[in-house]
Amino acid sequence: MRRNCWRSCLSLASLRGIHGLTRRAYSLGCETGELVGPMTAGHVLPCRAAVAWEAGKPLVIQQVEVAPPQAMEVRMKVKYTSLCHTDLYFWEAKGQTPLFPRIFGHEAAGVVESVGEGVSDVAVGDHVLPVFTGECGECRHCQSEESNMCDLLRINTERGVMLSDGKSRFSINGTPINHFLGTSTFSEYTVVHAGCLAKINPLAPLDKVCIVSCGVSTGLGATLNVAKPKQGSSVAIFGLGAVGLAAAEGARIAGASRIIGVDLNPNRFEEAKKFGVTEFVNPKDYDRPVQQVIAEMTDGGVDRSVECTGNINAMVSAFECVHDGWGVAVLVGVPNKDAVFMTKPINILNERTLKGTFFGNYKPRSDIPSVVDMYLNKKLELDKFITHRVPFSEINKAFDLMVKGEGLRCIINMED
Ligand code: NAD
Ligand code: ZN
Ligand code: ZN
Repeated sequence: MRRNCWRSCLSLASLRGIHGLTRRAYSLGCETGELVGPMTAGHVLPCRAAVAWEAGKPLVIQQVEVAPPQAMEVRMKVKYTSLCHTDLYFWEAKGQTPLFPRIFGHEAAGVVESVGEGVSDVAVGDHVLPVFTGECGECRHCQSEESNMCDLLRINTERGVMLSDGKSRFSINGTPINHFLGTSTFSEYTVVHAGCLAKINPLAPLDKVCIVSCGVSTGLGATLNVAKPKQGSSVAIFGLGAVGLAAAEGARIAGASRIIGVDLNPNRFEEAKKFGVTEFVNPKDYDRPVQQVIAEMTDGGVDRSVECTGNINAMVSAFECVHDGWGVAVLVGVPNKDAVFMTKPINILNERTLKGTFFGNYKPRSDIPSVVDMYLNKKLELDKFITHRVPFSEINKAFDLMVKGEGLRCIINMED
């Protein structure tokens, strides 16, 4: 807290220099240790951010300036963030369109610092989770019970600017820095559309529920809301990272009797036992396709499968391993942009269903507060997903861990 106060004072001091804030506002900042509220609203805020300048190169922690929120936008103080594989894909930019310099990050939790014109759902001081896909509340998708693919705010991986004016809110010496997924949480302050923020119970510990902002909700919802396994059914999960293990958690909650985990990394299997995974298959251990192995294990195929790898071969296997007549496969992993899904049409004619989902079909503003409540009511465990913690200054360690396939989620403390 002491260090945080120091940093706040320093940031505020420079802000005061640039924008002529009063001495009273400066001392208020010292008392609260927080840069939130009327003294900063409407001003450009200098703060630390981890900037990606080039594909695959370590992020650089440096000072950026964060512009105030415009109409229907919110500026939030990010307290904790974590790394999801989607950040890594776009940072590596191997199978994705490169867009640099960029501030990555989309799994996070924080506090509202100031709001733009027209924002009524959240207020200064509210605890919030930013979400990479939004909910305007008015379009046909938002009105539909089935969809979370909001016309206005659905995920857009290519856009590096805010919707309202096509500009970035981040700059370094006047050079704009691109946003990522409308969230850019690898910055002490970020600007997000109000429709991409879930207001949560202030009692929820932000250093834990930050993982509900992407990975946990995505996997959990993919099983509970999309695959919908019946009590006693069999479920195969492809990819045992945090998203896949959250999908396994969903299968456990739904009462599945067999949860078959599939991963190329044998180190995943030990961890997966804590998530109710009952059997393991490593495709590398077999000389025949993994879908065939699973069909043999389950008398013709599993009832449901959820793919959480981003690998196109795993996607096809996940589809082909479900039982004919009733099997449902759900794709969650983000593929290379040029990947093509190929299977024989007869596999579909034989009454298998292929589905896909972003964010587990949850509507961020309407549904995510209740996922946080599931954690508070002890129906959902989060601690077992958190295997590492690092201070913001060591954010590149979180990337190293994910590249090596070590651990599940690494929480990055923005105030450390
Ligand atoms: P992660 O890196 O922690 O886990 C991925 C796991 O998949 C790893 O254990 C890896 O060994 C395994 N894997 C890779 N290729 C495989 C293959 N061919 N067969 C079996 N296992 C394989 O990643 P994560 O953060 O859990 O994310 C998982 C996927 O979900 C990523 O593709 C990510 O981009 C995607 N994602 C999608 C959404 C969405 O809304 N659809 C949201 C978040 C993440
Ligand atoms: Zn994510
Ligand atoms: Zn909408």
